[in-house]
Amino acid sequence: MKKRLLGVAAFLFSLVLVAACATSPTGRSQLQLFSSQQLNEMGQVSYRKMVQEVPEEKDRDVNRYVSCVVGAVTASLPGSVARTEWKVTVFDKDEVNAFALPGGYIGIYKGLLKVAETKDQLAAVVGHEIAHVTAEHPNARLSTQYTTQAGLRVVGAFLGGQGGGGSREIMALLGLGSQVGILLPFSRSQEAEADVLGLDYMARAGFDPRASIDLWQNMARSGGGKPPEFLSTHPSEHSRIQTLQGRMPEAMELYRRARQQNRIPQCSRPAGL
Ligand SMILES: [Zn+2]
Repeated sequence: MKKRLLGVAAFLFSLVLVAACATSPTGRSQLQLFSSQQLNEMGQVSYRKMVQEVPEEKDRDVNRYVSCVVGAVTASLPGSVARTEWKVTVFDKDEVNAFALPGGYIGIYKGLLKVAETKDQLAAVVGHEIAHVTAEHPNARLSTQYTTQAGLRVVGAFLGGQGGGGSREIMALLGLGSQVGILLPFSRSQEAEADVLGLDYMARAGFDPRASIDLWQNMARSGGGKPPEFLSTHPSEHSRIQTLQGRMPEAMELYRRARQQNRIPQCSRPAGL
């Protein structure tokens, strides 16, 4: 009898899994077990924790510059993924890192601004990070993890009041590994998807998509010490550049149209960076 019940439970669970499979913007099928409301709340928990732990950049010019680039990209997102508000924080940390979280939160580490040498290169990073969120990669990753003990613990902790350990795990699963010492990078296919979508996003805003290639070349040169989001043994900078080049004709068309419509972001990079 018990065995039979287990069988029924497994069958029902598999139905849930099938029902929860959604198609990503580029047509990949991915598991989405959580509501966007739940994801937004987890994003908010992680973001708050981040702001508590990492000092914020005080320089007004640096903040204005980053907000200008992020604002231009977010204002030009396609209607299906547009949201009214994105909160941007520049962290005063010499780390080549950036992230975007469900709920509309973006973090840029000051160290990234040394590798992303121009506003267009910074826009390439911003587009890529936002694309992870619009393509619901955090939900997919969390859903995959949910089937493991770690995922169950995380969700339990989240539902049970977001205790310290739980929110650390949530952060790790959302892609904020550097804060917790657990590396859970996005998968290769998620990275490729974020590269392609991100390229479109920056181009729509009037940033030159060709700068994304320069960005990854700089990233390759900057070598070691790369934190989770960019600690990409997969894909290598080389294969990223190939993916970007494959999408470049479409992106250049979006870029051309944006400029025709006078979308020409004027974000001046502070001299001291
Ligand atoms: Zn990524």
